Amino acid sequence: MTFKTLALDETLYQYLLDHSLREHPAQTALREATRSHPYAGMQIAPEQGQFMAMLVKLLGARNCIEVGVFTGYSALTVALALPPDGRLLACDISDEFTRIGKPFWQQAQVAHKIDLQLAPALHTLDARLAAGEAGHYDFAFIDADKSGYDAYYERCLRLLRKGGLIAIDNTLWSGKVARPADDTDSDTLALQALNTKLHGDERVDLCVLPFSDGVTLARIR
Ligand code: CA
Repeated sequence: MTFKTLALDETLYQYLLDHSLREHPAQTALREATRSHPYAGMQIAPEQGQFMAMLVKLLGARNCIEVGVFTGYSALTVALALPPDGRLLACDISDEFTRIGKPFWQQAQVAHKIDLQLAPALHTLDARLAAGEAGHYDFAFIDADKSGYDAYYERCLRLLRKGGLIAIDNTLWSGKVARPADDTDSDTLALQALNTKLHGDERVDLCVLPFSDGVTLARIR
């Protein structure tokens, strides 16, 4: 039996960053601007962003979706990975949070690639389906209210093309998903139900990465 996953202490984590992270100065500045935010923990880790940028490039993605923008680090990262004519449909309900990121999107000269829709994500995604955009997208990142994940996933399944990829954040939820279902809260219950559903979902190829807080990859068959 090999290691399940290598545990990262602070020294090794810093080594990983020192030897792999390649950020645009606007990404570094946006992380710095978010560091003191009361919800700073909602921001993805930079190595996770770099991983997502790699996925976007591997997919040759042009059209992407993000559900849950927060202060816009992952949107910035995906936009930087997209080709000049690429677009990111970015869904969030908070002007207060997303406006923090906008100057950095401009600094990186990718603001024109990010179509920020301030509305409940389901409204935005359903409107795009109604507008005939089923199968139009290549990549989606879901990182928002956990009770909404299942509905976001179902919409993204329809909006993405065959071979497109859905990445879902926080699916290991600090380990809470492994607790008994009667000993937990509604967010954990929602993630437990989704993880169980995804395991048996024949519409997708599946992989759960024990990375950051758990990242599930579902590729549309
Ligand atoms: Ca998250």
